[in-house]
Amino acid sequence: MTEPPSPSLRPGGPPSRFARRLLLVHAHPDDESINNGATMAKYAAEGARVTLVTCTLGEHGEVIPPELQHLTGTELGEHRLAELTAAMRELGVEDFRLLGGQGRYEDSGMMGIADNDDPACLWRADVDDAARALVEVILEVRPQVLVTYDPDGGYGHPDHIQAHRIATRAAELAARAGWQIPRIYWNRVPRTVAEEAFARLQTDLPGLPFGKSATLDDVPGVVDDARITTVIDGTAYASAKAAAMRAHATQIEVAPGERYFALSNELAQPLFTTEYYELVHGERAARTESDLFAGVTLEEAS
Ligand SMILES: [Zn+2]
Repeated sequence: MTEPPSPSLRPGGPPSRFARRLLLVHAHPDDESINNGATMAKYAAEGARVTLVTCTLGEHGEVIPPELQHLTGTELGEHRLAELTAAMRELGVEDFRLLGGQGRYEDSGMMGIADNDDPACLWRADVDDAARALVEVILEVRPQVLVTYDPDGGYGHPDHIQAHRIATRAAELAARAGWQIPRIYWNRVPRTVAEEAFARLQTDLPGLPFGKSATLDDVPGVVDDARITTVIDGTAYASAKAAAMRAHATQIEVAPGERYFALSNELAQPLFTTEYYELVHGERAARTESDLFAGVTLEEAS
């Protein structure tokens, strides 16, 4: 059992100049642009405060461009921070932070590898300690919406699982300290949307710079369509999303036409400009919501 945050962290400052405030918690630089790039660009353009908290700098990520493959560890982390900064410029997002400050938590690498045993890695972090660092952000920003991964991290990566745990725990602790986040969402992709996109990909693959296609299992957060509560049409922000993904050049290659991309495994996968969510805390405002802030009341917005 952990003590709630100290009274000095209680919210109580002046009302925010932003009526709507969205907080996203991600594991590595690039996850935010792949999962939520269009959503972030849309809300930033509409005048909402968009705050991104990234848990690690992805120091163990594999690097795509041959000329950058000499970068490893801290050097790679520094480079990926510069990529994240460029991506946020593309999305119009000014408030992005690293959980606990730069270097506090390191990339854990994929499940089962030796990097997971490093005491500095996120997978080994004490969830309550890490959550307290996030509570500070929550009490400062007072978001009405939190977006993160499902308990499996979308696809089982240790840092993504841990990001889910930290975000969930921080929401609990922040509620005890005075700020209950009204709405919490998990990143999702509806199964039929993913299936149709992969079917199209098979047709388009010969024209792409990637040799093979990924499979549906490579896409995080795919669930039955019935679980989708909220659909954000990011069509108007498709080019901003693609530009943000391209800014993460060590991790992502976007194909010309911007309908497909590949990670370091060079397997083509669809680039979704409509983004999907499952509401897991808060009251559903419509059968299919088109706004993450749907149903947020004025009191919650002050
Ligand atoms: Zn990641």
